[in-house]
Amino acid sequence: MQRDQLQSAISEIRAVYAELARRPLERNCQSLTECCRFQLTGRTPHLTKGEALVAAKGVRAAGRKELPASDDGACPMLKCETGRCLIYADRPFGCRTHFCDAAGGPYPRKFVLDLIRRLEVVDQQLGGVGPRKIEAAVTAALRELR
Ligand code: SF4
Repeated sequence: MQRDQLQSAISEIRAVYAELARRPLERNCQSLTECCRFQLTGRTPHLTKGEALVAAKGVRAAGRKELPASDDGACPMLKCETGRCLIYADRPFGCRTHFCDAAGGPYPRKFVLDLIRRLEVVDQQLGGVGPRKIEAAVTAALRELR
């Protein structure tokens, strides 16, 4: 992947996240982190390639070259000691839109459909294969950033 292509993809993904943040939709996340414990929810976030590259950048910015090991079924980026996300500023789209019922529930798809389309366009431009499970997607992205 060319450096320019990478930069442009990362900029577009961050622009999508910024646009999402500008859309007022009330949710009341209490940081229960249940949604980061996939073994409890039975749901695992899936990331497009651009999202995975941004998440991988976050992992690198946290001083890691690889994903932390996770053997309890939780997201590898959930810090056990603090219950916080290692890459919060770079967390994927699904982590920004999929709230638990206690917090008000997931964003309606129609509310974010245009943003999902933009993520898909970046995925195609990067030669992605569509959304992949978070761990595989970020591991592959970390390899690409080397
Ligand atoms: S990336 Fe962060 S917010 Fe998303 S599931 Fe993992 S720990 Fe939770």
